[in-house]
Amino acid sequence: MGVFNIKQNKTYDVCIIGSGAGGGMAAYMLTKAGASVAMLEAGGDFDSTKGDMFKWNYDSPRRGAGTYKPFGDFDACEGGWKIDGEPYSTKEGTEFMWFRARMLGGRTNHWGRISLRFGPNDFKRKSMDGLGDDWPISYEDIKPYYDKVDQLIGVFGQKEGMYNEPDGIFLPPPKARAHELLIKKGAEKSGVKISSSRLSILTQPMNGRAACHYCSECNRGCSTHSNFSSPSVLIRPALETGKLDMVLNAMAREILTDKEGNATGVSYVNTQDLSEHQINAKIVIVAASACESARLLLNSKSAAHPNGLANSSNVVGKYLMDTVGARQSAIIPALIDRSRYNEDGVGGGHIYSPWWLDNKKLDFPRGYHIEYGGGMGMPGYGFMSNIHDLNNKLGDNRPKGGGGYGAQLKNDYRRLYGATIGMAGRGEGIAFKENYCEIDPKTVDKYGIPTLRFHYKWSDFEIKQAKHMHETFEEVIHQMGAIQLSPTPTKEQNYGISKPGEIIHEVGTARMGNDPKTSALNKFCQTHDAKNVFVVDGAAFVSQADKNPTWTILALAMRASEYIMEQKKQNIL
Ligand SMILES: Cc1cc2nc3c(=O)[nH]c(=O)nc-3n(C[C@H](O)[C@H](O)[C@H](O)COP(=O)(O)OP(=O)(O)OC[C@H]3O[C@@H](n4cnc5c(N)ncnc54)[C@H](O)[C@@H]3O)c2cc1C
Ligand code: SF4
Repeated sequence: MGVFNIKQNKTYDVCIIGSGAGGGMAAYMLTKAGASVAMLEAGGDFDSTKGDMFKWNYDSPRRGAGTYKPFGDFDACEGGWKIDGEPYSTKEGTEFMWFRARMLGGRTNHWGRISLRFGPNDFKRKSMDGLGDDWPISYEDIKPYYDKVDQLIGVFGQKEGMYNEPDGIFLPPPKARAHELLIKKGAEKSGVKISSSRLSILTQPMNGRAACHYCSECNRGCSTHSNFSSPSVLIRPALETGKLDMVLNAMAREILTDKEGNATGVSYVNTQDLSEHQINAKIVIVAASACESARLLLNSKSAAHPNGLANSSNVVGKYLMDTVGARQSAIIPALIDRSRYNEDGVGGGHIYSPWWLDNKKLDFPRGYHIEYGGGMGMPGYGFMSNIHDLNNKLGDNRPKGGGGYGAQLKNDYRRLYGATIGMAGRGEGIAFKENYCEIDPKTVDKYGIPTLRFHYKWSDFEIKQAKHMHETFEEVIHQMGAIQLSPTPTKEQNYGISKPGEIIHEVGTARMGNDPKTSALNKFCQTHDAKNVFVVDGAAFVSQADKNPTWTILALAMRASEYIMEQKKQNIL
């Protein structure tokens, strides 16, 4: 992918900070509409056609395990829970895990591609249960953009007609695999809804991109551009317009403003030689990911914005949310000694459970969906870990306990491979002002930029939801005749709830709203305090829904970009 040198004296129509889902969509929309765009990206280049998709696990020094990447060395993402020279901290007694990417396309290069729309209720939860806040937009406002995102990027799924799980414009879904059919049977006996997954992977050729050839290795980056990543689907066509100048290895330090408080450009550090630069632009779009965007706004202090840019309301960094997670695994006796055949399919589960219950009858607010794993994927380092322990669970007449080496181990792999499954609940956490990120007054990163400090605690609502997830897992596992592999976590273990941040769906740090006193952005992702600054990532979210956030980030970024062009046409911006 081409990389351009920035034209130093030029004033661009727009400078976009970050090239992930939000930044990529803004670049696509605005360059297509004829704007001159500079994009600052803290990481380096990435071209998935030169990636690791076609490699065998045994080509890696550790057979696919991670030596320097958390999800294995062939995972496409450069970045992780820790980045050298870029620390963050947490306040005493609280915890937060922060996963950051540093590369063209950000985390879209290895995300799970689960592409769910928020439903009508998800935009007005406060009106329904009194918690958090309503969005300043409704489902009807965003629906046309979800439709356009579906048609531009492509998503498969099955229409269900569920009110709060709106159907998209779907490509045909792939067939369920054997273990998924068994999960479906058990789930339906338990009253748990099952549908086809909704993943942004092409099951038919679309917009010049090839259909998926079912290699199952999406997280490595798709060499045929058949799944969604920002570089594959948005940045490539944006570059083809000739209107996009990309500046890679450019860490934005501060958004620069004039006396009136409007943005004039961005100062940034070249991460390779630590030199300082500045870029001039009439409009600045922040899309560095929810917490990085909050950090950048808070670090952009000036006489006009003494509390940080867009922060006269003091909400920037506040109302941080991550998804509630809990997981369980099981072995299905009916699949032991199964015959071998290729069931690779797309990278990800072919089924999922959308939220199916009514909170009025439950002791926690908001819902969750369930993602399922399993099957006969390419074995890698550590696959079926602790396989010898399965002997204890199966209750057949093989030796108990041992079997961790030699002939029995080999036999176990042959017999048990493809018989285990995983279940992961993904639920909505409530937006609380007390969950936030702020500038750590004591620490700067290796570029001299002040870093973030997090303060996050789950409330009883989320912990009760995790408990319910486990009750559901138990029931489904029982109904499908499978054997649960880990004990159900207890109250003392907070019912196995994930750590805040661990599910990597952080949103809410510059929320939108009609009232500039209680929100940072208006309903078009434009800051209340500086009319030529927009934030188009998950920071804008008012609530989280139980849906993974990226399809909504893409729709909001598309909507904000259309608004910008409309305002420009009318000479308002
Ligand atoms: C393993 C994994 C699985 C996931 N699965 C799903 C899923 O199935 N469905 C879903 O909806 N979501 C999923 N997500 C979340 C999804 O990846 C994010 O919601 C999405 O990528 C957010 O897009 P973004 O543009 O806000 O940020 P990112 O994709 O993180 O991109 C931000 C970019 O900004 C750059 N940047 C940061 N700071 C600066 C700076 N100061 N100057 C310049 N550039 C900067 C970064 O280098 C990065 O490239 C997953 C995430 C992970 C890690
Ligand atoms: S499973 Fe399909 S979309 Fe995913 S990497 Fe392979 S070919 Fe690409």
